[in-house]
Amino acid sequence: MYKFDVHIHSVASGHAYSTITENARYAHEKGLEFIAITDHAPKMPGGACRLHFFNLHILPEYIEGIRVLKGVELNILDKNGTVDLPEYIVEKMDVVIASLHKVCIPLGESTEALVHAAENPMVNILGHPGDPRYPIDIKEVVKAAKETNTLIEINNSSLDPDNSRQGGEKTILEIIKECKRQNHSIILGSDAHYHTYIGDFSRIEPLLKEANMPDDLIINTDPQKFLRLINAHL
Ligand SMILES: [Zn+2]
Repeated sequence: MYKFDVHIHSVASGHAYSTITENARYAHEKGLEFIAITDHAPKMPGGACRLHFFNLHILPEYIEGIRVLKGVELNILDKNGTVDLPEYIVEKMDVVIASLHKVCIPLGESTEALVHAAENPMVNILGHPGDPRYPIDIKEVVKAAKETNTLIEINNSSLDPDNSRQGGEKTILEIIKECKRQNHSIILGSDAHYHTYIGDFSRIEPLLKEANMPDDLIINTDPQKFLRLINAHL
């Protein structure tokens, strides 16, 4: 029912452990229609360097039988939504996630940072909001996302009790409910740092049920809708 996953890391992220080829092979075997590799941008310790992203165009569109989109998970660096790669590189990416990470931005109230990141026309997805270390005004963030056609990610790894963002279940449920209220689509992301986690949204499912979230507001059920949004093709 969920046909793609666009939050996937490869060895280029420094603390992830599968190659792009291993990721692609697994995703294809699992029956996904496409994936995006969205490695960490340079400000994340161990993250890929500028040239990694600049050179991604050398990869074939299809690897191990599946379409592999090129992407990045940018770090939001401040309240103004500044990110850590220049425009001439970001604009080459098919999928652009922007996220708050402890090593790249001080902890604390982060509504403004996310609103400004959403206003960046190159950003497609706000990555894993609901981190209890970065409280936000949910209504404001969803409103900004809707106005700018930016998707809100509901991240499976955030719900893992071993994850550094753990403890955000209630907030994440509220984010899902607010997206439903404002009729704005969410995107599910595995945030896989090893290939066997690709397409795993099992921790999110109970929250979707509890929020009674309609399928048509979960963009992973509609590959064409997502591809139109990012202006990409299979
Ligand atoms: Zn992240």
